[in-house]
Amino acid sequence: MAQQGLSWDVVVIGGGHAGAEAAAAAARIGARTLLLTQRLDTVGTMSCNPAIGGLGRGHLVREIDALDGLMGRAIDRAGIQFRMLNRSKGAAVRGPRAQADRRLYAAAVRDLLAAQPGLTQREGEAAELVVADGRVVAVRDVAGAEHRTASVVLTTGTFLRGEIHLGRERWPAGRHGDHPSVRLAACLEALGLRMGRLKTGTPPRLDGRTIDLDGLERQPGDDPPEPFSFLTRRIDTPQVDCHITATTPATHALIRANLHLAPMYSGQIAAGGVRYCPSIEDKVVRFADRDRHQVFLEPEGLDDATVYPNGISTSLPHELQLELVRTLPGLERVAMLRPGYAIAYDHIDPRELRPTLELKRLGGLFLAGQINGTTGYEEAAAQGVVAGANAALLAGGGRELVVGRADGYIGVLVDDLVGRGVAEPYRMFTSRAEYRLSLRADNADQRLTPLGRAIGLVGAGRGAAVAAKAAALAGLRQRLAELALTPGEALRHGLRVNQDGGRRTGHDLLALPDVDLRRLAAIWPELGAADPILAEQVEIEARYRFYLERQAAEIAAFRRDEGLGLPSGLDYAALPGLSAELRSLLDRARPESLGAAARLPGMTPAALTLLYRHVRRAA
Ligand code: FAD
Repeated sequence: MAQQGLSWDVVVIGGGHAGAEAAAAAARIGARTLLLTQRLDTVGTMSCNPAIGGLGRGHLVREIDALDGLMGRAIDRAGIQFRMLNRSKGAAVRGPRAQADRRLYAAAVRDLLAAQPGLTQREGEAAELVVADGRVVAVRDVAGAEHRTASVVLTTGTFLRGEIHLGRERWPAGRHGDHPSVRLAACLEALGLRMGRLKTGTPPRLDGRTIDLDGLERQPGDDPPEPFSFLTRRIDTPQVDCHITATTPATHALIRANLHLAPMYSGQIAAGGVRYCPSIEDKVVRFADRDRHQVFLEPEGLDDATVYPNGISTSLPHELQLELVRTLPGLERVAMLRPGYAIAYDHIDPRELRPTLELKRLGGLFLAGQINGTTGYEEAAAQGVVAGANAALLAGGGRELVVGRADGYIGVLVDDLVGRGVAEPYRMFTSRAEYRLSLRADNADQRLTPLGRAIGLVGAGRGAAVAAKAAALAGLRQRLAELALTPGEALRHGLRVNQDGGRRTGHDLLALPDVDLRRLAAIWPELGAADPILAEQVEIEARYRFYLERQAAEIAAFRRDEGLGLPSGLDYAALPGLSAELRSLLDRARPESLGAAARLPGMTPAALTLLYRHVRRAA
């Protein structure tokens, strides 16, 4: 459906985690899409740790999958150890995580992209954005070729003026082995966008054949492994164990003696730091009273001896890194395959963006991934889906994909970015979501697939599967509400309830400790043998019913505020009663709703009341 005179509806720049999802999402909607990336053989590369998911991040992957994205299906093909984190804790904070075979993962992403109709992939480096009448109209690559398009999604990760630091050495690079994107960074600066500088780091890689695993704690995966994708029935990839070691007082002494040689510390890198993936130097200084930090030894692949020591990201000089790793139990004779390093890079202030991830001041240009100040594959991929879908919807003149905070972690992520900006690389946690009991990893498909289906982002097959699951769930809930026992009958079945005369529905009984659906099916055979996934959902709903009902009321109030739109051209200077500081805050942020205004840091209840009255009067 490329518009007349244009080669493409959407051009996506960069084939990392954001770019792959953006390109696939745009093409799923039906846009003629070009993925332009520096090297096709690095599409889907995991720049740092070979793992997907975790707390908060696992929720994002389930949501990406619910919108028919690639990440869940890719990790299901490539995962070599699956674990549900926090299994023993509340349902809201359980997070799926999987260790990936790095090569299998990138291959899976490339296969999924190759199978996507409407998507063309080309090797090339974007150098400039061509702008006319306040809109981006084409991308010019370093070879001078112009790719005319209705919209562009920029997903250049850590590559914008990237610079690697290793001890006192430093050199320009997008990541190890890749050159940085310098001309494009200059072009973005020339557009007048607010930019910042951030840094991150990665640990050395070890030769697993030289690690002595005897005596180290073994960490097996779940058996059976639980897939990420709602469409995957079974994991067929062979599974492996990880092992756990730890730093020692000798490690800490070595680090303390050499802090001046670590660029993350010495002041050599002037950029916002990495509170959420701290370097080992950082941890030793910040937690000075601890003489031990856990280090997970994670295999990078089934046919690959490389081991990723998770927890010791460092930028100390090469030779000191070897000394450092050899102070850890099991690593006394380890060989180092590659040193760790730190990288500093430019990012764009995400407050420049609308909730669709389109720039406010330049139509047709969308940004997604690390370029917006986030860290992590999952955060990048989630933004990729949003930006790619909206870029395609813009080209087709359709609707927008905006996930609300009450509908998904994707909504929380985007709302935090565009509303608050970032002072350090942004990472997702379950604690960032107000409505986390409703936004569970197990129900992401029920929350988001219908939304994706409505805008053409989700294919008919997945749409039908989720609709069938929703119908089965509704039937099960209905049966549980209708079936009931008197207290006496319940007691005869061994269920301890107060003998108060009140009948208990199946739903009530499911809330009792030690009662699950299987136990109720033994009493009421008509419940049948429910699919374990459906059973888990109704059990969670019953157990947390009180809290879920309370949350539903909070969500209704939230939606009311979100529904009160603030006009994009609202003249805050003309609003009487607002302080100069708040006027300037609102003028810069231009929140799209009263709810978004309420979440701006520094906003006051009095100012919100003023805004509320103004919107009501204008309505
Ligand atoms: P990337 O995956 O970086 O992909 C960018 C893509 O854009 C690449 O394919 C590149 O070739 C392409 N590209 C760039 N410029 C151009 C251009 N001008 N034209 C065409 N193509 C272009 N995350 C964590 O969560 N924890 C960590 O500890 C952590 N440590 C990291 C350490 C290092 C050294 C690095 C490099 C990254 C680290 N990350 C970490 C971040 C993680 O790798 C990223 O968050 C994630 O890969 C971002 O995805 P992305 O799609 O935004 O960008």
